[in-house]
Amino acid sequence: MSDARAEAVIRLGLQKAEAAIRENEQELGRLDAAAGDGDHGATMLRGLSAATAAINAVTGATAGELLIQAGAAFADASGGASGALYGALFTTIGQKLGDGPFTGLAVCAALQAGLDMICKLGKTAPGDKTMVDALAPFVVALNAQATTEHTLGSAWRAALPAAAAGAAATANLVARRGRSSRLGERSLGHVDPGAISLVYLLQSFGAALDEV
Ligand code: ADP
Ligand code: MG
Repeated sequence: MSDARAEAVIRLGLQKAEAAIRENEQELGRLDAAAGDGDHGATMLRGLSAATAAINAVTGATAGELLIQAGAAFADASGGASGALYGALFTTIGQKLGDGPFTGLAVCAALQAGLDMICKLGKTAPGDKTMVDALAPFVVALNAQATTEHTLGSAWRAALPAAAAGAAATANLVARRGRSSRLGERSLGHVDPGAISLVYLLQSFGAALDEV
């Protein structure tokens, strides 16, 4: 995709992500209250609001640069371990995308790099009941699709159900990372809020790919 389209997708995707999290802030808070401290909706909204404000102030940047700035603003504004993880996700994807070209394969590689960074920083892996349980199956599905589908938008859409299924399946997992890990077995039966919010982010960027 062209540099201009990539930039527009990032701007619109972040705007949609902020709107989606704003709409679901209470739900995310309730999910986090079940096994954590109830702040996940507020944390995500604070981070995304700062990220959109930061990139709105920037003109003439590439998609990669925008994501790097968005990640830094997210981490600064939302604070805490999870803020650092989400911030690093955006920043790593931006660094890997660089100045393009923004091909489907480059986007897949950038998402893989983001996933690897979260696993490294969070000392986590799939199955620990975190956002990784939504992101990892999405990356696998997107990689499988991107080879057979022509446009990134259709590949992205086809991969979204894998992320949603991964997030839903966190209800069957015992938390091994983050605050909810203190509950041990009692975290069973609750979905992980970070996995759910990650699905909202992926849906938002998918919708932006369709619209731009
Ligand atoms: P906090 O746990 O500081 O209150 P949030 O409530 O905003 O932060 O976010 C919690 C989410 O962060 C969890 O649902 C989980 O998805 C994610 N998370 C927590 N710890 C880790 C980790 N070590 N690696 C990956 N994700 C994590
Ligand atoms: Mg919390």
